[in-house]
Amino acid sequence: MNRFGIDLGGTKIEGAVVDPARPDRALCRLRVPTESARGYSHVISKVVRLVGMLERESGAGRPAWIGFGTPGVIDPSSGVLKNSNSTCLNGRRVREDLAAALGVEVRIANDANCFALAEAAFGAGRSRSVVVGLILGTGCGGGVVVDGRVLDGLHGIAGEWGHNPMRGERTPCYCGRRGCVETVISGPALERFYRGLTGRSLRLPEIAGRAGRGDGAARATLRRLKAKFGEAIAAVINILDPDAVVIGGGVGNLDMLYGEETREAVLRHVFNTELRTEFLRPELGDSAGVFGAAMLTASSRSAARQGGSPRGRRTRSD
Ligand SMILES: [Zn+2]
Repeated sequence: MNRFGIDLGGTKIEGAVVDPARPDRALCRLRVPTESARGYSHVISKVVRLVGMLERESGAGRPAWIGFGTPGVIDPSSGVLKNSNSTCLNGRRVREDLAAALGVEVRIANDANCFALAEAAFGAGRSRSVVVGLILGTGCGGGVVVDGRVLDGLHGIAGEWGHNPMRGERTPCYCGRRGCVETVISGPALERFYRGLTGRSLRLPEIAGRAGRGDGAARATLRRLKAKFGEAIAAVINILDPDAVVIGGGVGNLDMLYGEETREAVLRHVFNTELRTEFLRPELGDSAGVFGAAMLTASSRSAARQGGSPRGRRTRSD
């Protein structure tokens, strides 16, 4: 039976039909705009329409279950989605409503887990035992995959490196705490730092470009990223000792994260004298979300347990 995976994002809903024998190739892949401003029922109807389009396009029958990746969290006690940037989904029993509308069983996981799962299975992290997948962009999310399975943890927060505290940092975070990793090395945080130095509002790629041309404030911004990333990811490495870290998201596009100087910044905080962990660019591009969603039942203990991933944070993939 072919698998259907849906990436239910804030601006677009993307779907793919995948043959389990060739899980790294989509038989067909389609996307439609989410149009979340038109309300919850409209979004559900868009999903139903997209699934129908996938069936027609691929010639595949509707499977017994469909996997969904989305920002936000199915609250483990109430069963409703929260903290999604598709705000019309918040407070709704999304899994039950999709299941009823589609007539199938629905699995939902956080989009960072879907990313980590797909990259570990057949992307940059393939053939490694322990893979950490980071989404380092507008926010800082992450997922942990051990021997092909997503590690969710008791509270569903495994991999939540973005809300670890950073020494000497006090910036308020949306989660209610201060000095979280996300408030320091997310794209907006780095842009804010540059703006504080110069008064100029530039996007991160532009800042990185200016650093190469000798802009002192831009270089200071990248130095800050390097040092703080080193401290933040070393905390993850000290606990999980992963074979590989795959860095997705907009900030993950910066070449410097894969250079020797960044490795040294990480090693400075690692409880070891050498660092063999690989830092890898993702290989699946924006496909990881749908492929990971299509793998959910096979690969996630929590998805098999309760059909969702009780994540406690907002993650925006970008
Ligand atoms: Zn936080």
